Amino acid sequence: MKLTNRNNYPDALMRAIARDPYSKGDSQFSITGLIAPARKRVLEKKHWDELEEDVEECVYRLLGQSAHVILERANIEDLAEKRFFIEVDGIKISGQIDALSLTSGILTDWKVTTVYKFKTDEAAPEWIAQLNMQLEILRQNGLDADRLQIVGILRDWSRAQAMSSANAGFPYPAHNVKSLSVPMWSREKTMAFFRARIAAHLAAEKELPLCTAEERWAKAPVYAVMKPGRKSSLKNHDNPADAQAHAAREGGTVQYRRGVNTRCDAYCPVAKVCAQYQELKSYVVQPVTEEVHA
Ligand code: SF4
Repeated sequence: MKLTNRNNYPDALMRAIARDPYSKGDSQFSITGLIAPARKRVLEKKHWDELEEDVEECVYRLLGQSAHVILERANIEDLAEKRFFIEVDGIKISGQIDALSLTSGILTDWKVTTVYKFKTDEAAPEWIAQLNMQLEILRQNGLDADRLQIVGILRDWSRAQAMSSANAGFPYPAHNVKSLSVPMWSREKTMAFFRARIAAHLAAEKELPLCTAEERWAKAPVYAVMKPGRKSSLKNHDNPADAQAHAAREGGTVQYRRGVNTRCDAYCPVAKVCAQYQELKSYVVQPVTEEVHA
């Protein structure tokens, strides 16, 4: 994959990103790779030489890595930034853990991410899977944990928004670091998940699957009921009839907001060569918002 520098960012950034030491070690799959869409992994492998990624798209990854390096300084965890290996039905899998405290028994994964991912008190499904897979790998290496948690460093957190949200009762995180407890799966469930993901990735090498809506981080289109003087909608409906009836009662208007595939639109390096995404994009003929008067 070629690294580009469209905005002429400082050369030091470009070189630091180009020298990313990440490796899944001597394994066929990493946990991260298994959780990612099988279609994305196969397309990445097939088109590696023609794909491009710009420094701009990698800056937050660099920020995430820097946080991990700095957190190692804390030196309070008994195990940090260590890669472990297991075999599942003859397939070698690796997983790197961020921090396991052998005294408190907490397995932690650090995320440098956006407030949006921490708007609720529930960890994202891929994070739950990731932590449970890490735990299974630890267990098969003679270690264990009593609790799993994600700790988010919220890179776009704003004090002003936290204060206004507190007044308005919005679920905006109160602080710029937030922990989420991750539910523990049974070992049977985790192993079944490993096997299902391995099977999906192996099958994808023979026949390219489509990414699911969940894998595309898809948001369905909505019909938002708007009132003059308000920035946010009163309610989002999934069909125009309900929205128009609601708007008529409130004396408002209906705004159409098209659906999006967030991962494809902004976070998938193979979007350019992905026929599924190109076809999805071709359906989008409407503007992002469109007033529909009740
Ligand atoms: S662009 Fe979208 S549909 Fe295509 S592989 Fe990436 S996530 Fe899947």
